[in-house]
Amino acid sequence: MGCYLNRIRKTWQRWHIRRLLAKHPIPQPLWHEVTGRITTLQHLDTHERVRLHELATWFLANKVINGAHDLEVTPAMKVAIAAQACLLILNLDVSYFDGWSEIILYPSAFRVQRNQPDAFGLVHPEASNLSGEAWLHGPVILSWDDVARDIFNHQAGHNVVVHEFAHKLDGLNGAMNGMPPLRGSMHRERWTTALAHAYDALCHEVATGKQPMLNPYAATNPAEFFAVISEYFFTAPQVLQSCCPDVHHQLALFYLLPTKA
Ligand SMILES: [Zn+2]
Repeated sequence: MGCYLNRIRKTWQRWHIRRLLAKHPIPQPLWHEVTGRITTLQHLDTHERVRLHELATWFLANKVINGAHDLEVTPAMKVAIAAQACLLILNLDVSYFDGWSEIILYPSAFRVQRNQPDAFGLVHPEASNLSGEAWLHGPVILSWDDVARDIFNHQAGHNVVVHEFAHKLDGLNGAMNGMPPLRGSMHRERWTTALAHAYDALCHEVATGKQPMLNPYAATNPAEFFAVISEYFFTAPQVLQSCCPDVHHQLALFYLLPTKA
């Protein structure tokens, strides 16, 4: 019954997306102008680009992107965010982006104040500047400066849009813990073993002062590890494959995207 309902839902989603495309497609000149600049998208083949255009159209019809601090959100900014976000669900289902509807776009890094426990367990307010943040069941928050930096100054292992939307996939089952809802054909145990082994090794390297191949921020917790390895998977798959081949293999099974290593 579940399979049958899933098939019906997917058929309805495809019909809904086609209808949107027919009525309000992202105009091709704008689409080509924006996506032509995004290095992360350059390896996609023709079929994948068509699919990404469909998904980005669906994304902009179903999610709202609001500017903060008087930022005017242009159509090009919207397309840049939608295209990179939808790269994650290119071979997944749009339902992976269920449960939230808003993206808040700041002009630049935004300041937040959080309570952080010290070594003695005492909690202190601590301010920090963030390039992005994803709330469980809530909005995704992005800094446009950082989104633009990733477009115009491509850096291996860095993509704030991929990072924050990977958190959204992770949180879909109710907790951000590095375990998104896997495909039915995948093995939960193999995923956990591959990721936990690589996470522990990274934490050990960071703790012993070694220079890890991956961004040490990934050692923060398993949720950040998943978001950071997703950044590598889409922007520098060769780094991920050489440092953690089992992790790369699991992500390839999940995203179903043979990234060019
Ligand atoms: Zn994060």
